[in-house]
Amino acid sequence: MSHAVLPASERGVSEAPRAFDQALRQSGRAGLRRAETRTLQVNMGKLCNQACVHCHVEAGPKRTEIMQQPTAERIIELLSASPAVQCLDVTGGAPELNPSFRWLVRAARERSVHVMDRCNLSVLLEPGMHDLVDFLAKHAVEIVASMPCYLQDNVDKQRGKGVFAKSVAALRRLNERGYGMSGTGLRLSLVYNPGADVLPPPQAKLEAAYRENLGSGYGISFSRVLTMTNMPINRFATWLQQRGRYDSYMGLLARSFNPLTVDEVMCRSLVSVGWEGTLFDCDFNQMLDMPLSNGAGRGEPLTIWKLRSLAELTDRAVALGNHCFGCTAGAGSSCGGALQESA
Ligand code: SF4
Ligand code: SF4
Repeated sequence: MSHAVLPASERGVSEAPRAFDQALRQSGRAGLRRAETRTLQVNMGKLCNQACVHCHVEAGPKRTEIMQQPTAERIIELLSASPAVQCLDVTGGAPELNPSFRWLVRAARERSVHVMDRCNLSVLLEPGMHDLVDFLAKHAVEIVASMPCYLQDNVDKQRGKGVFAKSVAALRRLNERGYGMSGTGLRLSLVYNPGADVLPPPQAKLEAAYRENLGSGYGISFSRVLTMTNMPINRFATWLQQRGRYDSYMGLLARSFNPLTVDEVMCRSLVSVGWEGTLFDCDFNQMLDMPLSNGAGRGEPLTIWKLRSLAELTDRAVALGNHCFGCTAGAGSSCGGALQESA
């Protein structure tokens, strides 16, 4: 795999290829450096029971790229050697479909590391997954569930026909097991992303609308709503390009650059591991094949087998590109939702 040429979807607005660097400079920064790594995000592969329009992973039911057990075991060794890491954030695809998922969760919880499962909800209803909710609850795994709207039409348009009904059924099952209910300690976060090329609305306002609609309409409880900006890469970049709206969306993100979000972007405290064990500053860089490198510039990709502890990553320069406008536009965006309460 070559790392010499950036993929087309990463290049951003063609007439301003280094626009993000320029925006950073104007905000008084010459690049960005990693702080202490607190979250280890593990992408278990591209296998998923869905194939959503906005998916930056380009996951789907026919993808075969999944993490193997020796890779999962090395991740746990690194976690044990990195006491500052307090959270294992497990994603995919649908990570629950990976045969090593439950082993990985158990091993992290035995080390008292908080585990987040990025769950698409419909996977809870898949054949062979009948005991998944009990497993997650038993290990006090936080569920971060994709629920891009409280309206059926919008969810089905973005995630596929029938997905809204399945999501509601899965949320009810989670509520019955105590997820999202006060006093249980079982946190259920819902993730919103826009259905088109616009920025997300304010997180708190949207959360109130979700409570109103999912609560009174369907009797569903949840802990919080996290808003995420659509990243202009991969499947969503193709969606934009097919409609001739790629440049206008990049323009919107760049015009909305908010310097106050820069110190909070998730790549400062999170590291992302690909299904093969390569390390990246974030999941987006992973999808763009922009790994952390072993030497200066774009050298050999750094992998989990070449590190003794994740503490070795502190103070490394972050690999930036124009897609980083997706994290810094408006109120900012990360896997943990908006970076600021309002823009
Ligand atoms: S459920 Fe998530 S991982 Fe699967 S296709 Fe949809 S966005 Fe991608
Ligand atoms: S996409 Fe976001 S998280 Fe990733 S390197 Fe850019 S600013 Fe950091």
